[in-house]
Amino acid sequence: MSGIKPARRWQPAFYPFKRVKFGRRFLAKTELCIKGPLFGCRMCGNCLLQETAFICPMECPKGMRNGPCGGITPEKNCYVDETRKCIWYTIYKRALKTGREETLLEVLPPLDWDKVGTETWGEVVGQIRKVGTGKFIGGILSKDKIKKAEIWDSVFRTIRQPEWWQGDFDYHPAPSREPVSDLEQRLRKGEFVVATEVIPPISAKTDKLIRDIESVKPYVNAINFTDSASAIPKMSSIACCNVVLDLKAEPILQIASRDTTRTGLQSTVIGVNAMGIRNILCITGDNARIGPVPTSNMNIVDVDSVQMLWILRRMRDDGIYLDGRKMKDPPRLFLGAATSPFASDPVLQAIKDHKKVNAGAQFFQTNLIFEPDRLDLWLEQLDKRDILNKVYILIGLAPLKSYKIAQYLHTKVPGVSLPEKILKRMEKAGESAPEEGVQIALEMIDSIKYKRGVNGIHIMTLGWESIVQRIVVESDLAKIE
Ligand code: SF4
Repeated sequence: MSGIKPARRWQPAFYPFKRVKFGRRFLAKTELCIKGPLFGCRMCGNCLLQETAFICPMECPKGMRNGPCGGITPEKNCYVDETRKCIWYTIYKRALKTGREETLLEVLPPLDWDKVGTETWGEVVGQIRKVGTGKFIGGILSKDKIKKAEIWDSVFRTIRQPEWWQGDFDYHPAPSREPVSDLEQRLRKGEFVVATEVIPPISAKTDKLIRDIESVKPYVNAINFTDSASAIPKMSSIACCNVVLDLKAEPILQIASRDTTRTGLQSTVIGVNAMGIRNILCITGDNARIGPVPTSNMNIVDVDSVQMLWILRRMRDDGIYLDGRKMKDPPRLFLGAATSPFASDPVLQAIKDHKKVNAGAQFFQTNLIFEPDRLDLWLEQLDKRDILNKVYILIGLAPLKSYKIAQYLHTKVPGVSLPEKILKRMEKAGESAPEEGVQIALEMIDSIKYKRGVNGIHIMTLGWESIVQRIVVESDLAKIE
């Protein structure tokens, strides 16, 4: 954030890995000296300040460029470094206060690493010259707000949105066509769907994985596999999805941007599509800070989840790679995203979710929800933004097996909180805690299944796959039309 407090900044300023002429280096230093204290500039060389309420988003440890992740703590601090406010929370608050809320919806590009560490002022001057210096000054001084915005955009939008990206504020629906997956077909038909998560094994053996898949398969419509959740390596989501395909079930592949580059993302998706995987859930992923030691790189994701959706949607609908190459047979994809309705507050979260829908998300799987009444606040916000009818929503819930698990989720998992009432019930249950946990899950399903905008549930088993059958049968989900 702005202010002269360099020690509070998470990331060092970027430095180019190339020879740059003295003049440009001098300009870069000058820019850092001015924009650093004023806006908290990290010299990413791909300036977005216009769209981020004039606060540099690169102070975010993950380098998120399209809004907050789902990990803001209840105190609105960053879960990676709890001593600091989430920079995106601050950006959103300022944007709301200054009436610039809608600028937060523009889908912003990933870094062009060739520009990282370099100045942007030279580019601004070059662009002003192209537009015409007199015309630019005239436009900026004009009293006509539209003219002013147009001239401003002719310079800054061109810089912010390079030819290879062209992000915007608009909703881009998938072209009308046959559903690409069984999950999409069911959702389109209006079925209330059930997805579940099966925990990927920690070894190369697939016996337990196969048993778990077989045990949930008759009761669910799709099976998710996390992509090294909590930044802990396990069998890859791709390998697990392949096992699911062999067992004739419906997989949802999760791709965490934490471990994915833009090149890797595009090649992976082309490859898995050829294997028959159609449902892709784009997530940013937990930061390495909460993973095991030795700690992996905690800085800068190459692409965030919004950018992943934008890239994959354009591959599917326009048949182009990020670099503009055309492909003859585009992938067939049903794109999903994760959301954490209560990570900061539902009003702010809805802005980020709106952006994900605009970028290409067709379905949401929410973080764990334990307070169905609070869910209404978030659904109302989505409705206000007119996106409730543009995205299918699967509510995340978990059968709690013990009080210890309940406490762990409440205190350690980013974006998840359990109300006092549920924590007390689990504590009081003692040895009957697993039964109490199932009852809580059943009550949850009961109170959300007829909510407007809710299209299904996503059971996160937390390793308790054998309980899926009971939950689905006892909640009478098969009878829901
Ligand atoms: S909570 Fe997430 S978005 Fe906010 S600063 Fe931390 S990593 Fe970035």
